[in-house]
Amino acid sequence: MALTTPGVHHVTAIAGDPARNAAFYVETLGLRMVKRTVNHDDTGTYHFYFGDGAGTPGTTITFFPWTDDGRQGEFGAGQTRATAYLIDPGSVDYWADRLTDRDVAVERSERFGERVLSFTDPDGIDLELIGADAPTDAVPWTDSPVPERHQLRGFYSVTLAVADIEPTERMLTDVLGYELADSEDGRRRYRSASGGPGSVVDLVETDTERGWMGVGTVHHVAFEAASVEEEQQWLDAFEEHGLGSSEIIDRKYFTSIYVREPGGVLFEFATPSPGFTADEDRDELGSRLALPEWLEADRDEIEARLPAFEPPQVMPADE
Ligand code: ZN
Repeated sequence: MALTTPGVHHVTAIAGDPARNAAFYVETLGLRMVKRTVNHDDTGTYHFYFGDGAGTPGTTITFFPWTDDGRQGEFGAGQTRATAYLIDPGSVDYWADRLTDRDVAVERSERFGERVLSFTDPDGIDLELIGADAPTDAVPWTDSPVPERHQLRGFYSVTLAVADIEPTERMLTDVLGYELADSEDGRRRYRSASGGPGSVVDLVETDTERGWMGVGTVHHVAFEAASVEEEQQWLDAFEEHGLGSSEIIDRKYFTSIYVREPGGVLFEFATPSPGFTADEDRDELGSRLALPEWLEADRDEIEARLPAFEPPQVMPADE
């Protein structure tokens, strides 16, 4: 049977100041900080995960906050153009007002018959909220400053910008199991065979130079792989298609592999298990600096090197 991914597992981007990053995703967007850890490959940098009430796969946007001294990125070909969260179609005006009230510039548009709000986070990362009747696995966060019915419902789509659509399209359709579903104004929409939450990938062409990874850009898009065994099958498939890829890597909350698609975007495949409750109870998610076993012995040293950070405190919304 051909391999397919159900859709996006998480999206990881580079931010500047950690406190400003967390304040935006928790206080403004109402996401829960489900994990506070460090970049396993660079333990002087935090790794923040913001998601739904349970840290469900397909809801978490994650950041390496490099602080404001970090190198600024520059958008260009081979990068994620926008990351879109699903909202209820009846929540579009709520969100336009909420963002405007917080001095976030919002642009309204319509795409494939659905209403879209476009804006950027404080570091310049492009985000969208799409009002659609689409499937969701998201679990509400009861302590969110956003009322439950308006909360973000996990990813709807990612839009990838490439110099030439065809090679990336072949990667999506011939390797990842996506199908061309629609096209409009130069945008091509693909949907994974499962048609579940976060199953949409849009491709657009850009004539900008190859982008620079840094503050304000997306580092990679992770798709869901069912298991480590399936990741091995993915690696075999990448090799068959002549694509260079990584080893299988233990990321504590999931197991990962990485592959760069021909248009330049870095893809990861990540497993749903063990998930964010691997080292914290669901009630406690994100409440402390979590370190994997192999870094725990260096905790004092790691904590001393990290920038000071207090997680944002929010008041739960009244319904
Ligand atoms: Zn990742």
